[in-house]
Amino acid sequence: MRKLKVAVYKFSSCDGCQLQLLNMEEELLQLSSFVEFALFYEARRSVSSGPYDVAFVEGSISTPHEVEVIKKVREESKVLVAIGACATSGGIQALRNWANAEEYKQYVYPRPEWVEVLKYAEPPSKYVKVDYEIRGCPVSKEQLLSFILQSSKGKTPTLPVDSVCVECKRKGNVCVLVAKGVPCLGPVTMGGCGALCPSYGRGCYGCYGPMVDPKPEVLNTRFKELNIKPKEIQLLFKQFTNWSREFRKVIEEYE
Ligand code: SF4
Ligand code: SF4
Ligand code: SF4
Repeated sequence: MRKLKVAVYKFSSCDGCQLQLLNMEEELLQLSSFVEFALFYEARRSVSSGPYDVAFVEGSISTPHEVEVIKKVREESKVLVAIGACATSGGIQALRNWANAEEYKQYVYPRPEWVEVLKYAEPPSKYVKVDYEIRGCPVSKEQLLSFILQSSKGKTPTLPVDSVCVECKRKGNVCVLVAKGVPCLGPVTMGGCGALCPSYGRGCYGCYGPMVDPKPEVLNTRFKELNIKPKEIQLLFKQFTNWSREFRKVIEEYE
C-alpha cells in the first residue's frame, strides 16, 4: 500500500501545534507503517520533495516571504490543512493588527529597518485555498490523529461542527454563564475540546475560534444585559482568535 505523503510547515507561530503531532509518540510509531512524514523540520532533517498528499500548515502569514512560501506549499499539496488558531484565524500575533506594527518594531528590535512585515498577520486562507481547518491553541491532538487516519484510508475526513456549548451540555456541566454570570464564549465557539474550560468551572475564551454562523452579536447583547463591562467583553473576544472575521465584529464595536 502506498503511504500517505505528509508535509508539516511552520509559519509565524510558537511551534505548539507541531509539538502536538510529536506528542502522539506511540501513535506516531504505528502511523509510520502507512504515513510518510516527508517534510517535518521539527522532527527530522531529511526531506523528500513534493508533491504531497497532505500539507499541515501551522502559523499565520506575517511577512512577504511567507506569502511566497504558502503559495508554493499550495502548489505542491493536494490537500492543505490549517492547524491551530494561528493558521485558522491569525492567532495571538494577530493582536498586533490592532496596533501599529511599525511602532512596535522601534521598541522591540535594535535594527527595525531590517524587519519586513505585512500590515496584518493573517491566516493562510487570506492568500491560498485551505481545504480543512483543525482548530485549537494548541490544535487538538485527537483531531489530528483522526484526520491522518481517515486520510490514509482514502476517506473524507470529518471534523467537529457543534459549538462548545453542545459539548458542555452533553457532559452535563453546570452552565457557568447561567448559574454564575461568568462570561463564556461557548455558544459561539467551535467545539472539539470537549468543553474543557467550562468543565473546570471557567468560561470558554474561544481558542477554537468561531463556530459556523456564530452570531456573536447576540451573545454580546447577553453580556451587556449581565452588566459585563465593555472592556471585559472586548478582551474576551480579543484573544487567540481575535482576527477571525466573526469575532472582529464585536471587537470593533468597542474600539
Ligand atoms: S495555535 Fe497556539 S499552540 Fe499553535 S502555533 Fe499558534 S500559538 Fe502556538
Ligand atoms: S458554560 Fe459556557 S459552554 Fe457551557 S453551556 Fe454554559 S455558555 Fe455554553
Ligand atoms: S473551552 Fe474554549 S477556551 Fe477552553 S479549550 Fe475549549 S475552545 Fe478553548
